[in-house]
Amino acid sequence: MIRIYCRARHGAARDLCSDCAELLAYAQEQIRQCPFGIDKPVCNQCAVHCYSPEKRERIRRVMRFSGPRMLWNHPVLAIRHVLRSRYPGGRSK
Ligand SMILES: [Zn+2]
Repeated sequence: MIRIYCRARHGAARDLCSDCAELLAYAQEQIRQCPFGIDKPVCNQCAVHCYSPEKRERIRRVMRFSGPRMLWNHPVLAIRHVLRSRYPGGRSK
């Protein structure tokens, strides 16, 4: 997500610019400390406030920017993400 944002916004070719790299490192550190860990639900459903207000605002901006674009870069992942958040627990018959 941050990579998409950085490439489009900051013109980074492969690596992130220092700003985005710092934000990514911070986000990964927070995820590691999050009690839900890697199994955590969709981020906006997470009950724990992982990020400090200033960082959260930056992350939120990245998400809002990259969200729609993810559909083009990772169509399968994005669609699966939408399906899963719309039908929690999957279909059971
Ligand atoms: Zn950047």
